[in-house]
Amino acid sequence: MSKIQILVVEDDAPVRNLITTTLKAHDYRYTTAVNGESAVMEAASYNPDIILLDLGLPDIDGVEVITRIRGWSNVPIIVISARSEDNDKIDALDAGADDYLTKPFSVDELLARLRVTQRRLALMQGGTVQQATYENGQLKIDYASGCAYLAGEEMHLTPIEYKLLCLLARNTGKVLTHKFILQNVWGSSWETDVGSLRVFMATLRKKLEKEPGSPRYIQTHIGIGYRMLKIE
Ligand code: CA
Repeated sequence: MSKIQILVVEDDAPVRNLITTTLKAHDYRYTTAVNGESAVMEAASYNPDIILLDLGLPDIDGVEVITRIRGWSNVPIIVISARSEDNDKIDALDAGADDYLTKPFSVDELLARLRVTQRRLALMQGGTVQQATYENGQLKIDYASGCAYLAGEEMHLTPIEYKLLCLLARNTGKVLTHKFILQNVWGSSWETDVGSLRVFMATLRKKLEKEPGSPRYIQTHIGIGYRMLKIE
């Protein structure tokens, strides 16, 4: 497998060094940028496989960086933000980021996020996102017939549960915000009703997860949203 090329955007030198040292030790290639303008330029000229993007940059806002890069590229973007910047994190995800890391983070967390993103990258490059059927662990969705199966048994889903499952499946590996899910499943009029989403998610999980208390497929991101995980 050819080495993954990562663009590290971080103005804080100690954090940047922690990241690049970790990447070097785990055989990733990388380039760095210390502000938003150079991040956009580096992204355009080096065509990285993954971008690690700090949201608090000295020149332009991290969310603005995402919006600009999304103008021409679907490159996976993992944002890095301080714990106090929860709203920035949500704005970043809504602008098209794939995942996030909260400072302070451990080397293990960083590597875990990179692994999830690499699996998503493999799915994107394999073109499976557009395929007529979806398979993940024991879950199978036949988009053409509108049926979902778990371990070969048809799942009895309501239309909303099915839409919710398909949206998560089509974005496997990506964190979807409450707002994004509500807009895509119910339309924008329900934009603020996170409570209803939680109820539908609970009923979907009862049908999907063997142990709804410790879900394997759908991960909860408290205060942010949900993600479908790729089962090994
Ligand atoms: Ca910063």
